[in-house]
Amino acid sequence: MITTINTDTVKPSTVNKSIVNKGQVFKGSNNHLNSGENANEQASQRASISTESSNTKVPNYSKLATQLDAVKTDIKSKIGSEDAAYIRRVILAQRACEWTGRILLMLGFIQPLLWVVGVLSLATAKILDNMEIGHNVMHGQYDWMNDKHINSKAYEWDIACDGSSWNRVHNYEHHTYTNIIGKDRDFGYGLLRLSNDFRWRVKNLWQFITYVMLSVMFQWGVSYHEMAAERVFFGKKKDNRKNQLSHAELKRRFFSKGARQLVKDYVLFPLLAGPFFLYVFTGNLVANLLRNLWTSTIIFCGHFTGDVQTFSAEDCIDETQGQWYYRQGLGSSNIKGGKLFHVLTGHLSFQIEHHLFPDIPARRYKEMAPRVQAIFKEHGMHYNTGGFFKQYASVLKRIVRYSFP
Ligand SMILES: [Zn+2]
Repeated sequence: MITTINTDTVKPSTVNKSIVNKGQVFKGSNNHLNSGENANEQASQRASISTESSNTKVPNYSKLATQLDAVKTDIKSKIGSEDAAYIRRVILAQRACEWTGRILLMLGFIQPLLWVVGVLSLATAKILDNMEIGHNVMHGQYDWMNDKHINSKAYEWDIACDGSSWNRVHNYEHHTYTNIIGKDRDFGYGLLRLSNDFRWRVKNLWQFITYVMLSVMFQWGVSYHEMAAERVFFGKKKDNRKNQLSHAELKRRFFSKGARQLVKDYVLFPLLAGPFFLYVFTGNLVANLLRNLWTSTIIFCGHFTGDVQTFSAEDCIDETQGQWYYRQGLGSSNIKGGKLFHVLTGHLSFQIEHHLFPDIPARRYKEMAPRVQAIFKEHGMHYNTGGFFKQYASVLKRIVRYSFP
């Protein structure tokens, strides 16, 4: 059973409306099983939105599944050498950007502009590595190539987060339980209150500053995410959580990957530059910062725009394929843009398509999008898309809105 909970426009105490496969049923407001931060205490405060007010009617879930499955099957049949050549080209471009960047940083003493171009080039390399290559390869989008390096098991990216931790928290948890309050820890990252599903606390008053800090330190936030949820250092562990790894192992991986990144960017490469140590050190620092700001912005635009909906924990019980598609579709939002923009977002500007088809090579989302949008329209589902500034403004508004009770 799917229960949509609107998160942006409604006030507490609105009656929950559950949606079932072929009709609508009203029910009480304490139908959330869950588990999330304060979930039990908050049940009485939960708010939901009617399907009408979110421009969404109840779809025919089995037809929705058949139609979206057909899009997937069609695109899957086309995947092949073109896609393999594409990802190899992107990897080549990423390496070219990285080495150009690292060399230009050292030449900053001749002309500061060279240093600036170096920073931008290195930041581009890190963005390509994290978004178009790392995120997508680690999703298994290119596993069919049977390439020794370009596969979800072998790839390790240029970011503080250990790849296997990402696989557990992002690929499995976030993609399976997308926007289910208490199950998808990506919703607000345990730091931000982005819907009425969470009880307001005084710390939410300054959550805009928390958001800015999270963006600046994003790679460390992503890296620490699993440990925070497992309460490795602080707080009491949730009863409903099963550890996949021991705390000792989580710590070991966190520190070993984090240290490797720190040594590479702030010790090894600066030392290799000899007298240009500081040029390289600061260049790496700014490149990492730019990558952090870019990736967090794109990810926030994909999940926290005003119209993105949340769901209750019971949604994943006996969820059909159609209901799963429905939740993924309404729990994500797209950003319109040009070809280069899409590449630099790792095609996560097509977050809706990514969530519907996470294992399809992301470059294919663009051709899937018009078909997905037409299917959503037929079912009266809101296809959440807009230009970058519109979507980003909507995210910022949501962060500010839920700063207050
Ligand atoms: Zn993903």
